[in-house]
Amino acid sequence: MKARGDAGRPATKARGDHGRPTTMDDAVPLAAFLTAEGFDTAEARVAAREVLHAAGLSNPRKSAITAAKLAACRSALREALVRSCGLAACERSLAVRAPRKHLVRVLPASCEHCGGVASRRTGGGVSARCLELGVRRVLVVGGLPAACRELRAALSGVEVDLVEGTAKRDAKRAKAELSRADIVVIWGNTPLDHSVSALYRRPPAGVGLVLVPTRGAASVLAALAVHLEGRAKRR
Ligand SMILES: [Zn+2]
Repeated sequence: MKARGDAGRPATKARGDHGRPTTMDDAVPLAAFLTAEGFDTAEARVAAREVLHAAGLSNPRKSAITAAKLAACRSALREALVRSCGLAACERSLAVRAPRKHLVRVLPASCEHCGGVASRRTGGGVSARCLELGVRRVLVVGGLPAACRELRAALSGVEVDLVEGTAKRDAKRAKAELSRADIVVIWGNTPLDHSVSALYRRPPAGVGLVLVPTRGAASVLAALAVHLEGRAKRR
């Protein structure tokens, strides 16, 4: 039996999935596609187009691309390019993560390192400064779980150890933890028992003490930045 369309009409080759003829409607404007993929500056779109041309997925005369090619375009772009907002910390981190890819400048929200998130943007600078000054381990006492996760993500490259503010601790264990740290952060205005914080308030010589009076990862990053500048001056 001959294949027939939904309405009993003979099916024709020219009709798409939804019964309409296949037309340029199946193509999307190239500039809109690239912007949606995070190539949201003219410079980044030029670089992205060159990648698509080189991969044979488009050519300089075309301003649209068919839907069927989008997946191949995405993977060609991912292979060749990495998007950065231009912040020094983002550039450094992306150059390490993707050394063979060509770096293109985009708006912060499309940056593959910070995504425009304030704490990650500040954090990139703070973690770079930590590494320059030989600060490898930060011990954080207190802090709410979500803020702690944000802090860890922001301080990539630096080891962040956490002591929950309501954890059971004795002086011996606290001393061992302090001896491994370069900086101890006491994070106030978070669930933090005095019996816990008291164990960490007198770190040994060489371990910096940073007291943060307000909650939120951004407060810790700001306090760390100030502490690091003081440390740099003393060197
Ligand atoms: Zn960035």
